[in-house]
Amino acid sequence: MHSTHCALAVIREKYFSLLPDSAIAPLETAIQLSEKYHKTWWSIWWNSSNVRTKNRIKEECNHLAFDCYTAMMECAIAINTHAATQSALNIKPHSLWAGMISTLHSAFRWIEEENHLEINYRQLQLNLQPTTMNKPFSAIAHTRANYNYSIFHQSLLHENNGEDYALRHIYSLENTKVLLTKWGWSAEQVKTGIDHTTIDVYKNVVYLHICNKVTKRGQLIKIRGISRFISKIDYVEVLINRCWTKSDPYKLEPGSDWDELIARGNTGDFYEVKLYQHEITCTCHAYSGIEKAFEQDPVATKHLMLNSKTHGQIPDKHIFAVWKYLGAESLQQYEYCWMERKEAAMREQDKCSWQYEPEPEPELADY
Ligand SMILES: [Zn+2]
Repeated sequence: MHSTHCALAVIREKYFSLLPDSAIAPLETAIQLSEKYHKTWWSIWWNSSNVRTKNRIKEECNHLAFDCYTAMMECAIAINTHAATQSALNIKPHSLWAGMISTLHSAFRWIEEENHLEINYRQLQLNLQPTTMNKPFSAIAHTRANYNYSIFHQSLLHENNGEDYALRHIYSLENTKVLLTKWGWSAEQVKTGIDHTTIDVYKNVVYLHICNKVTKRGQLIKIRGISRFISKIDYVEVLINRCWTKSDPYKLEPGSDWDELIARGNTGDFYEVKLYQHEITCTCHAYSGIEKAFEQDPVATKHLMLNSKTHGQIPDKHIFAVWKYLGAESLQQYEYCWMERKEAAMREQDKCSWQYEPEPEPELADY
């Protein structure tokens, strides 16, 4: 671990200015953990300590090595994403870039060689937890047994499969199919590939993997594959667009008040859609599921807030149906329509109260 620590420290000392902002925090974490590992390991006399103490230190170091490796992965992903953006903009790499990458490679090689068991062992433990192994999940793409998911991804998985909101609503297979189609995959390629998809959600990005060789009836065949990091913006936009396409203003009925509408479901069920000045809420399951999905994922929420159409409005087909019904295509337009609708309702109310003003009581008039 000491050599890994040194390599990481060199990256901080020598190449700090080349690092993207998103790589700095995980690098710092990895440096601190690798140092703590070294100190913890040498905090006892290995020859004279008893077995219990040795085991305790080993376990502590196991956790430190595992977390250090995770932080290094996060750092490497941030650097890769940054490099991809730079090269897409045709920006030439800095003359020191290759040096930094080679130092990072050394850090990975050393931790993988020296701490091989420690960095894999805790993953194995996590994967074998009964809560994540024995229950059916929303999609195999999120829960492949032979794949080590990121810590963030694991935090999105719940004991109760019904609570995997972000995985179900944002990073779903359905949304992935739309993305693949957008990238030029044919319907046939999507259909073949989707069963072999692995979706790993990191804090800032999503890793999508489809292997390009699969065994079918004992034969190895080549299929179209993919292995890349995707921005969470892509998934959020697909979700918004799909909700927009599915929304139908003709399925709305007037509610009991001007700020309420009733949405009719396909099976004859009804949902209340409530119109507030800056947002709309709905009582359907999809709305509450999507709302919870965004609560689980702050980066996805950021993209929802920055989206020029939604500005943070939870995308639900009934809500977009109301937008269409009012003639709005964005939250700003909706807010304007809401004001107009409110004023119209107020005018109507004034007219009614004028008409129905009670006549003075005859007895009182006599006095
Ligand atoms: Zn709804």
